[in-house]
Amino acid sequence: MADLSFIYGTMESGKTTKLLQDNFNYTKHGHKVIIVKPKLDTKGGDLVVNRRKDSAKVDILLDKNESIISKENLKVVLDAKVVLADEAQFFTHEQVVDFWYLAHVFDIGVICYGLKNDFQGYLFEGTAALLSFADSKTELTVKCECGETAIFNARCVNGEYTNQGNTVAIDGEDDVSYVPLCGDCYLKKIIGKSQISDIIKE
Ligand SMILES: [Zn+2]
Repeated sequence: MADLSFIYGTMESGKTTKLLQDNFNYTKHGHKVIIVKPKLDTKGGDLVVNRRKDSAKVDILLDKNESIISKENLKVVLDAKVVLADEAQFFTHEQVVDFWYLAHVFDIGVICYGLKNDFQGYLFEGTAALLSFADSKTELTVKCECGETAIFNARCVNGEYTNQGNTVAIDGEDDVSYVPLCGDCYLKKIIGKSQISDIIKE
């Protein structure tokens, strides 16, 4: 049977570039590839676009209450070799389980690409489900500005770091951007409590 794979990392770790490369490789060998994105992610419209402006057309924009294994979507997906799903952190738990069914019952490979944690350090719903259900997991890493490996996505609004606001605010919209930071830099710039006296508990 086919597998569900999860490729995750911080912002700028090359997840979408990896999707576009995988798309190229499968297509080159004559395999049918279906590209899926959550409708919630408005960036790029019906395209998957990386930071170097390479792009591919999205075949299915999946709404929050829509399933990859609905009768309608199966008409598009059934003869595919693999489904590549971008921004997978925004899928619901149930949608991830449906991707898992697609691999293990319909025998169609699924590779999901997404962020691990939100800007406050919590796992996204789709990510938590994927860490549970994925048959294989690969972490892509990028360096923090200090040179250490980044594991957090810090939110910037108008160039200022913040830990406030909604969980979902799309990079590049409403003056919101995200910066990959290591643990030490996240502590200093976002939490702002780096002294023992700031954090000690009764
Ligand atoms: Zn750092």
